[in-house]
Amino acid sequence: MKYVLVIGDGMADDPVEALGGRTPLEAASKPFIDGLAAAGTLGRVRTCPAGTQPGSDVAILSIFGCDPRTCYTGRGPLEAADQGIALRPGDAAFRCNMITLSPPGPFRERLILSHSAGSIHGADSMELIRWLFEHPSFRPLAEAARVEIHPSPSFRHIAVCRDAAIQGGEFIPPHDHLGEPVGRHLPRGCRTAEQLGELMEKAAALLPDAPVNRRRAAEGKSVCSGIWFWAEGTAVELPDFRSRWGHGGGVVSAVPLCRGIARLMGLEAPVLDGVNGEWDTDYEAKVRAALEILCREDFAVLHLEGPDEATHNGQLREKVQAIQWLSSRVVEPVCRTMEERGEEYRMLILSDHKTLTSTRGHDGGPVPYILYDSRRDRRGSGLAYTEAAAAGCPLMEEGTGLLPALFGL
Ligand SMILES: [Zn+2]
Repeated sequence: MKYVLVIGDGMADDPVEALGGRTPLEAASKPFIDGLAAAGTLGRVRTCPAGTQPGSDVAILSIFGCDPRTCYTGRGPLEAADQGIALRPGDAAFRCNMITLSPPGPFRERLILSHSAGSIHGADSMELIRWLFEHPSFRPLAEAARVEIHPSPSFRHIAVCRDAAIQGGEFIPPHDHLGEPVGRHLPRGCRTAEQLGELMEKAAALLPDAPVNRRRAAEGKSVCSGIWFWAEGTAVELPDFRSRWGHGGGVVSAVPLCRGIARLMGLEAPVLDGVNGEWDTDYEAKVRAALEILCREDFAVLHLEGPDEATHNGQLREKVQAIQWLSSRVVEPVCRTMEERGEEYRMLILSDHKTLTSTRGHDGGPVPYILYDSRRDRRGSGLAYTEAAAAGCPLMEEGTGLLPALFGL
C-alpha cells in the first residue's frame, strides 16, 4: 500500500461574483479529482485551530499530525530548517520578503503593492538582497541589529537575528495587507521589531538604485522597492515522521516552509529545478519526483502553492487554471502510474486553508478534503470536490486527524 497526500495551497474559497457566484473549485473543470471524490470519501476539516493565525505554517503542521498549539514557534524557523540553518537558543528566524511599494514618498504612507515583488525569483532576487546587505549605508545597521541574511532564489529570503528580543513583538504578514499603507503594519512591540523596521525603511530608500532594479525597470519587469520582515520564531523541534507513523517518504514542494517541516520530521524534501511555487510551475517535474519517492518509500506529499499565490496576486483565472492542472497534470498521472505499477494506494487531497479572492488573504474556516482508496472497498460519496458539497459532510474538528485517516489507523 502506498500513501499519497496532495495539498493544493489555498484552493478553497468563498463564492466569487466574477465566477457567477461560484467558488474557484466549482468553476474549475477537474473531472479527475471530482471522480475520486465521488468514488471516495468527502469531508471537511479544520486545519487552523481557533486562536491561531490561518496560514500554511499552522495548517500544514496540523496536516502532518503536529498540533500547532503546542509545537509551533513561528514560521521563520520552519523555513530556516529548509536551508539547513541551525538556530541557537536566543536566536530568532524571520522571513525577509522582497516587496513592491507604491512610488516614493514618506515611507510610512507608501502602500504595499506586492508581497513578492511581482513573484521575483532566481538570480535577480539573490543579487538584490546581497547588494542591499553589502551596501555601505545598510550593512552597519544590519550588523548592529545582529541580522544575517540567507538568500534564496525566490522572493522568500531568511533572516536570522542573533540574541533577538522578540517577546511581545508583532510582525505582520505583508500578503494580508496589500494596498494598505506601510506605517500601519510595521514590526512593533519589542526592540528587535524596531530595529527591523529601521532596516525596512533604509532598504526602501536604497533599493531603487540597485543595478538589478534599474535593469528590470528598463525591461518592464516588476521592481523590488522594499523588504519585509515577518514570520518570527525561535528554535523548533518536530517528531520524527517514521517513528511516529511507521512510514517514511518525502515531500515535493517549491516552498521552503513545506520542505522545512519535512526536513525537521526526517522526511526527504528535494529541491527541483523549474519548480517556482506559482500557477505555471513545472507540474511534470513534481510528479516525477513524487513517483520516484514512491518507488523507494510508501509515503509522498505533493504540495502545490500555485492557487494560493494566484489568489494573493489577484489572478482569479490563474487560480482556476492551477486547480484544473492539479487535477489533470498532478493527481491523474500519479493515479494512472500507481495503477500501471499495480500498486494499491490511498490518497488524501485537500486545500490546506482557504485563501479568499475577496480579501486576497487567508481564512481559517474548514476546508473540503477527499480520501480515496484504490481498492474502492466502500461506497463512494457520489459528490464533487467543492466547498458546497462538503458542507453537508462530517466535520473533522482537528487537522491532526488527517494522517491517521490517510494511513487507515
Ligand atoms: Zn498564502
